[in-house]
Amino acid sequence: MTASALHKTGFAVAVIDALSAHICVLDRQGVILAVNRAWRKFGSENAHGAEDSDIGEDYLQICRSSSGPGAVEADDFAVGVQAVLDRKTPLFQLEYPCHSPTAFRWFLGRVTPLNLPDGGAVISHENITSRRVLEIELAKLADTDPLTGLPNRRYFLDRANIQLEKVRRFNTKASLVMIDVDHFKTVNDTHGHPAGDEVLKSISRGCFERLRQSGVMARFGGEEFIILLPETGAIDAAVVAEAFRKSVEDSVVRIDGGVVSVTASFGVAEIRSEDLTIDTALARADRALYKAKRAGRNCVRQEDSHTASTTWSGSGKTSDTS
Ligand code: GH3
Ligand code: MG
Ligand code: MG
Repeated sequence: MTASALHKTGFAVAVIDALSAHICVLDRQGVILAVNRAWRKFGSENAHGAEDSDIGEDYLQICRSSSGPGAVEADDFAVGVQAVLDRKTPLFQLEYPCHSPTAFRWFLGRVTPLNLPDGGAVISHENITSRRVLEIELAKLADTDPLTGLPNRRYFLDRANIQLEKVRRFNTKASLVMIDVDHFKTVNDTHGHPAGDEVLKSISRGCFERLRQSGVMARFGGEEFIILLPETGAIDAAVVAEAFRKSVEDSVVRIDGGVVSVTASFGVAEIRSEDLTIDTALARADRALYKAKRAGRNCVRQEDSHTASTTWSGSGKTSDTS
């Protein structure tokens, strides 16, 4: 090798060693020919051996034998690497999880062909964890009501639409329970808006704690909440709603200088397989809620059912199915 070629090689090695991405060079069969400093450092820190131990290994085999979280993506990555090595695609990239027992990590793996007569490819793995964590936090914020910490309407509608699909396809049961706090304007007017906020937080906490794991509770609007109960018909959902009604009625919210008690009205509707959209089921739950308000509030009412008509009355109020 000439002095100038040696100089160029040293220069190239210095450049790839200066990069923070983990980089390796593969021959046309996918065997690792060279790795940069970041690759070696990651390897030694993550117990896949001493420095340089990956050189001579079959990279595709390493991907395919990967296990744990990210194993599926590692398999997909191997397919992409093979496609670049076979010159079927000019570039392949994939974001994948690479969690360790102590850290959540994500990487962007990128494969570029080596434009040399013998072929081969350059692989780089760039740590994108901070961006991914930010994206996850943003997605969570977009789905969460800031006052109560409950899922918001948007998230709820997504989940309810998925549930509607299940009801339509597999003929399973599911119900909606719509909740509206009674005379909430008076709470605000009497105790102030911050006290009203405390009441909303307390109601959400109370109901949320009672909800079994598969249920979804969301803040649907101002002082309205909604619950999705999978695998639950309207009659059972009314029993659940009655327990929630009682817990709201029994709970006392401490606010500056005193306590506040509120009640809430509940409308129950089953999601039906003939519902074309979730809006139809929501409208039935809303009508049932309206019935509860008309019946004097602090009670549970069910949609007009085609088969059975069960109503629940709270606080000894007379049942009114009108
Ligand atoms: P009803 O029994 O018929 O439901 O009576 P209501 O007073 O609860 O109904 P209305 O719809 O007249 O009033 C709802 C009130 O809820 C009015 C609004 O100011 C209040 N509200 C909506 N969102 C919030 C909130 O985030 N915090 C507080 N403190 N109040 C809110
Ligand atoms: Mg309301
Ligand atoms: Mg209200």
